[in-house]
Amino acid sequence: MASVKEKLQRLHPREYANFTYAYPVLSRRSGGVSIGVNLNPDKICNFDCPYCQVDRTPPGKEQIIDLPRIREEVEALLSSVDENGICRLPLFDALPDADKKLCDVALSGDGEPTLVPEFADVCALLHELQLAHSQLDFKLVLITNATLLDRPKVQAGVEALLKGRGEVWAKLDAGTETWFQRVNISRISLDRIEENLISLGKTSPFKIQSFFCRFASEGWDWNKEEVEAYLQRLRRIRDAGSRILEVQLYTLARRPSDASIVAVDKPLLESIRVRIEALGIPARVYGSGD
Ligand code: SF4
Repeated sequence: MASVKEKLQRLHPREYANFTYAYPVLSRRSGGVSIGVNLNPDKICNFDCPYCQVDRTPPGKEQIIDLPRIREEVEALLSSVDENGICRLPLFDALPDADKKLCDVALSGDGEPTLVPEFADVCALLHELQLAHSQLDFKLVLITNATLLDRPKVQAGVEALLKGRGEVWAKLDAGTETWFQRVNISRISLDRIEENLISLGKTSPFKIQSFFCRFASEGWDWNKEEVEAYLQRLRRIRDAGSRILEVQLYTLARRPSDASIVAVDKPLLESIRVRIEALGIPARVYGSGD
C-alpha cells in the first residue's frame, strides 16, 4: 500500500487554497517540499506533448501576471516554513520533519513559463524573495522545455534566477526529430533546443529531464536508433563544454491527454541510465513525473 509520502508525491496538485499562482507540493525530484509558481493559468504551451498531464478540457483562465499577488502568495507559503526550514502546512502534517524540508521555489506549471512576457520580472522578484528569506536556504528552479532560452528577455530572467542558488531543469525527450515530433510536437526543432542547451551550459550547469513512453496503439517503442541518437545529443552538449548536473529519467505516472500512451519498463530506463553514466554524466531514474 502506498505511504502518505508516496500519495502526496503522486498527487502533485497545482491548486492551493484560493491562490492563483503558488502551490506547495512534495516533490521527489526536489527531495522535499517545493513551492511551485504557475505562470500559465491559461495553460498555453509551445509544445503539444501527448503525454501532458495538464487537463485542457476546462479552458485555462485569463492570463494576467499579477506580480504583487505572486509575491503575496509565495510569501504566505514561505511564512509556513519554520526556522529549521521545515514546512508546517497542515497538508504535510502526517509526514516526519525530515521529509518536509523546503527545497526550492520552482517556476513551472500548466504551460511553458518562459512564454510569459513578464518572465524576467518574475525571476527578479523570486531572487529578491530568496535574498529576503536567505535563512531558509532554498533554491530557485526553472522547469522549461528550453525552446526560448535563446531570447534575450528570457536570458535576462534566467540570469536573475541564477544570481543566488538556482538551477534550470530542461526537457530533452528525444534523439531524432521524428520522435521529437511525436512526443513533444512543436514548430521549434530539436536541433534548436540542443543549441539552446549548449549555450545555457556554457555559463550555467543545468539538469536535463527526459520523459520516455510508448504508444500502445502503434506498437512503437524506444528502438536502438532512437537511444543512440539521444545519447549522441547528450554527448554533443557535454563536448561543447556544457556541464550537465544530472539527467532525470522518468516515465508516465498520471493520466495523459492521449490515452494510448503507456509507460516504458523500468529496465529500459535503467539501461539508458547506465549508458548516460558511461558518458560521465550523472543520471537517475525516477518512477514518476514528480
Ligand atoms: S512542455 Fe510540459 S506543459 Fe507543455 S505540453 Fe509538454 S508536458 Fe505539457
